[in-house]
Parts: sequence; structure tokens; C-alpha cells
Amino acid sequence: MERNKKVVFVSHCILNQNSVVPPLARSKGPYRDVVKEIIDCGIGIHQLPCPEYRYLGLSRKPMNKYEYDTEEYRKLCRQISKDTVDIMMEYLDNGYEILGLIGVNSSPTCSIQGDRGILMEELLNLMNESEIKLRLLDIPTDYYDGEKGREFIDTLKISILV
Ligand code: SF4
Repeated sequence: MERNKKVVFVSHCILNQNSVVPPLARSKGPYRDVVKEIIDCGIGIHQLPCPEYRYLGLSRKPMNKYEYDTEEYRKLCRQISKDTVDIMMEYLDNGYEILGLIGVNSSPTCSIQGDRGILMEELLNLMNESEIKLRLLDIPTDYYDGEKGREFIDTLKISILV
């Protein structure tokens, strides 16, 4: 079957809540309704790596942006960002459409809107240098699958999946 050449880039834990700091997980695995909505539109999902998982593993404690903001962690986020921009460029150079980038609000690493996380600072800087402009959206801090998350799913549909 012909591919539709549409892809969305998402923070790792949108597909895998097993990667988040233990008390903060909001679903057993993926954000089911978010993923389902994207899949139902026939859009591919490119999952970014989880920098916090790579840096401190599964038993890390909740930390704020200030605590994460070390030279070593910035370097890791820059490496991930460079790799991600290369992947984006490959899609774009081959006629694919990147519909957007979805982060996680209030994350010290992956927040796009509000106080920007460290990965997203580095990634958006590099995207800017490469003149890659995408629609941006965050999973809200109060998002849960089901009725509670319905409003966000509507926003996702209108702002990214069109
Ligand atoms: S660093 Fe990003 S991908 Fe990893 S758990 Fe936090 S918000 Fe999710």
C-alpha cells in the first residue's frame, strides 16, 4: 500500500509511560487516545528518545530544570537534537510532510510551551538554524485518556492532524 508521507514527532513517553519518573506516569503504557487519534489518521509517529531515561535511568527522582541543566545533560540533549534534525531533514528532502512536534508541558526536558525544557530548547534552536518550522503542541499537565482528555484530543485534531 502507498504510504501517505506524513509523520509527527513526539516525546518518547507519549508512547511509553514506562519511561517517566515513577510517581508521574499517567497511563499503563502509551497515551492511548493520543496515539489512536494519530494512527486513525494514517500518520506515522517518530518517537524521540527520552533524555532523562538515558541520563539517569529508571530509578531517577523527580528533578526540576535547574537541577538537570548541567553541561553533560545539555550535551546529551544536543546530540539527540542533532540526530533528530538530521532525521527531519531526510524526511523533508524526500517530500514527506512533518505535521508537528508534540512535547510534554511542564517537563524540565520536553516542555515546548510554557517554560521550555532543555531538550526542546536545544532541538528548536537547531531546527531554527536548519529553517525547519513545525507546528508545536504540548500534552497538558492534566491530560489523561478518556473524557478528561477529550478537549486536548480536539485541539490535537485541529492544530496538528490536519
Ligand atoms: S524526559 Fe521527556 S520523554 Fe522522558 S519522561 Fe520526561 S517528558 Fe517524557
